[in-house]
Amino acid sequence: MPWRGWACARARSPTEAQRRSAAVFLRRRSHRAHLVALALVWACAGWAAAAQPGDLVVLETEGATRPTLHAWGRSWPVRRISAQRWRGWVGVDLTVRPGHYVAEWRFSHRRVREAIVVRPRAFALSHIRVPKAMAEFDAPTLARIRREAEAIRRCYRDWRGRAPAFRFLALPTEGIVSTPFGARRVVNGSPRAPHKGVDIAAPRGQPVIAPLGGQVVEVLDGFLMGNTVCVAHGDGLVSVFMHLDEVKARKGAFVRAGEIIGTVGQTGRATGPHLHWGVVFRGAALDPLRLVANRATNAVKGADYGRKDQASDGD
Ligand SMILES: [Zn+2]
Repeated sequence: MPWRGWACARARSPTEAQRRSAAVFLRRRSHRAHLVALALVWACAGWAAAAQPGDLVVLETEGATRPTLHAWGRSWPVRRISAQRWRGWVGVDLTVRPGHYVAEWRFSHRRVREAIVVRPRAFALSHIRVPKAMAEFDAPTLARIRREAEAIRRCYRDWRGRAPAFRFLALPTEGIVSTPFGARRVVNGSPRAPHKGVDIAAPRGQPVIAPLGGQVVEVLDGFLMGNTVCVAHGDGLVSVFMHLDEVKARKGAFVRAGEIIGTVGQTGRATGPHLHWGVVFRGAALDPLRLVANRATNAVKGADYGRKDQASDGD
């Protein structure tokens, strides 16, 4: 259950009546209560960032000293963009429910709160059928699957280095989106966890490039995920590429944006050749396609978004 900020009644400026009642409240209560009431008015009155599950939210603030940025119980990267202006990036996890949340800038002697309004997002339903051996597992296979899943979670916890950017300038490969981000999956009739990535169906052997520079922090041959490469871009932004036919990256190597890291394949549990591209930012599963610069996104065929008969997986 993600941390949820206290709710505001509205995200726009408060009415005069609300201001007056807050002022009355302030006169009556202790100093501690003043702060609580002020925070409430600020968070509800200020500019609110609107987002959906899977989005990256960009926030800015002003101050003479470097602040830290906090939301959903963790800190987020902050960069100076001019003498007294700071920009921060916050990921809205796939599982965050619609509602009002709060991000907080912490300076040494003050705090600034900003509302993040998460709006509902409709996710596709994806049915796939795979052989029984790929849906029901014996104990050793289950142990292997868990080990591999833990290796991927370790990649997600890699916050080392500085991200070259917080968006992708290119797609890792071009093709047809066969299962969109967040799709509610049903494997052989059983409901499974939502799809934490995007499936891009493409011919086997087509190159897969790093969409942003980073370090290859894991390479493994997974039972379900097939040949997999994890790239930590820095600042806790991590990409994972699954079902590769060939891996052309070495664990520990640094790759530049555009460098080939493998080829599209059908290894692991896959109903056809495709690339599964997952992006996790400080623990938040994000929609990779929403992080790609607009022009580059056109290279995936939007008309086929979510087609059931295309290559897919159960990841
Ligand atoms: Zn997938």
